[in-house]
Amino acid sequence: MGRAEQSMPMSPDSLTWRARWWRSVEHHPNLLIGGLVLLLAPLLLLLVWLQMARWEGRQLRDAVQRANQSLDIRQQQAVIDFTLTQRSLKGLPEFMAREPRLIRALEQPQQRDRLRLATDYLAQVSGFFLVDLCLLVDATGLTLAASSDAGVQGLVGLDVSDRDYFKAAMAGRPGRQFAVGRSSSVPGLFLSAPIQSATGRTLGLAVIKTDLANLAQRMKMQGLFVEDEHGVVIMAQEADLLYRAVMGAAIHRENADFRRNLYKRTEFPLLELLPGGFAGQPEIVRLGPSYRPVLHRRLLMVEDRMALHLVEELSQIEAIQSNHLLVLWISWLGALAGLWAVSATAVFVIRGYQYRNSIEAAHAELLKLNDMLKHQAESDFLTGCMNRRRFDDELDQEISRSQRQRYPLTLALIDLDHFKRINDNHGHLVGDAALQHFADVMRAHIRQTDRFARLGGEEFALLMPDTGSEAAMLLIERLRQRVAAAPLTLEGGAPLTITASIGVSSLCLLDSHDSLFKRADHAMYAAKSAGRNRAIFSPCPLGQHEISAVPLSTSV
Ligand code: GH3
Ligand code: MG
Ligand code: MG
Repeated sequence: MGRAEQSMPMSPDSLTWRARWWRSVEHHPNLLIGGLVLLLAPLLLLLVWLQMARWEGRQLRDAVQRANQSLDIRQQQAVIDFTLTQRSLKGLPEFMAREPRLIRALEQPQQRDRLRLATDYLAQVSGFFLVDLCLLVDATGLTLAASSDAGVQGLVGLDVSDRDYFKAAMAGRPGRQFAVGRSSSVPGLFLSAPIQSATGRTLGLAVIKTDLANLAQRMKMQGLFVEDEHGVVIMAQEADLLYRAVMGAAIHRENADFRRNLYKRTEFPLLELLPGGFAGQPEIVRLGPSYRPVLHRRLLMVEDRMALHLVEELSQIEAIQSNHLLVLWISWLGALAGLWAVSATAVFVIRGYQYRNSIEAAHAELLKLNDMLKHQAESDFLTGCMNRRRFDDELDQEISRSQRQRYPLTLALIDLDHFKRINDNHGHLVGDAALQHFADVMRAHIRQTDRFARLGGEEFALLMPDTGSEAAMLLIERLRQRVAAAPLTLEGGAPLTITASIGVSSLCLLDSHDSLFKRADHAMYAAKSAGRNRAIFSPCPLGQHEISAVPLSTSV
């Protein structure tokens, strides 16, 4: 039960707790603000994160979409470029294979003149078509003539019977092979075509070689690299990518001799394409060894047994990420500042409200105190009647009102009889009780408009506005009798009769406060002299009459 009482909202405990809390808020508003900020900050941070994630997702999507569009166009371009280049190169050995000078040289290789004519022809073709090397190879794989034999040592007489392009041509097909030149050590693409006699016998082959640098020149496109049939990157703008092998490349299954023979090397580092790590964007990959984020496409050129790789840079994605961090920090700080401002405003509004409330409460308290003081200053502490000072004011006001508006006004001064005796016989406390009793009896029987006051000691006054002498005397007489008939009951049960002598005067034409008072006082003394417990009226001085709504011709 005690518990239930304690938890009630208006219990003194909860009030104390609340008051204590508000006081601590008033003294340490920053603590409250800090608390609010700490409470709301994680929520706000979460919102900022979500917003950032959405924003970043949109930016990523846009960037990838743009990159994809660019890739589409470049892909078409690359395929056309590659096909045209390949086609123009492929046609050249076939064209050379029909050249009589080469056919004759193959038919009679021991004739130096014919070989020289063939060599001249090869040099012409090489110069005219801008290929790096032209060769005439016989059916056993021996090089009979070369376009630039003067510059390259030992080219003539070289055995190429192990090369794929040789085998293909000897089988009657055009041949194509990437290889690093045996005597030159320069990597390039070899293309061949069989040279046949009039009877259809394969005499040998015509070969051209385009150096890789030359080939790259022909297909100059940013972000393009070419993978050969063994899965090795043989052409790339970026030096870092050259001679890397794709995942599962055939070269990894070949032995060291094969590798050395074709590429003059045995190591082929992996061409790494790792997941980009961008949420919702699986298309983005990281290309080793720089591991930058890119979009990547691999186009298999089946006919040429090669693959084109296209790479689209996504450098702006790193910028999005770095911006992201910056924006996040700025938003975070902004959020904190905003929260601080909002909380501070809230606290100051609350404090202002509290301040206004406390001012209003203090003001109300002050008014109450003022009223109390005024009441105390104007009333008698023993009987609660108005005191002399207040009565004098009221009398002044009523006199001027009565004179202005011409209505009657009557004053009665009341002195208790033989009061000294009451004090002497029963003590001062009984005297006080008698005074209170008398005041109570009077108050119970006077009208609301009448003013009743204790002037001091055992003297009282009654002011009766709008009451002429005749009506007043009837009222006074009735009051006197009631007082005399209502004794105070003493402690033992004995009655103590209280009587009063009363002097009455009504306001006359030329009366002032003092003259009205003096006449009532005289009448009161007259009542004492006449034997007490009576009321005597003091009429207007000669030649004057009582103020009244209906003027009286004579005073009583
Ligand atoms: P009378 O007026 O009939 O001539 O006789 P009286 O005894 O009333 O005469 P007087 O006016 O001389 O005495 C008034 C007495 O009232 C004197 C005083 O001791 C007493 N008195 C005045 N004020 C108080 C008061 O506040 N309490 C008490 N107990 N007595 C008071
Ligand atoms: Mg007296
Ligand atoms: Mg007296």
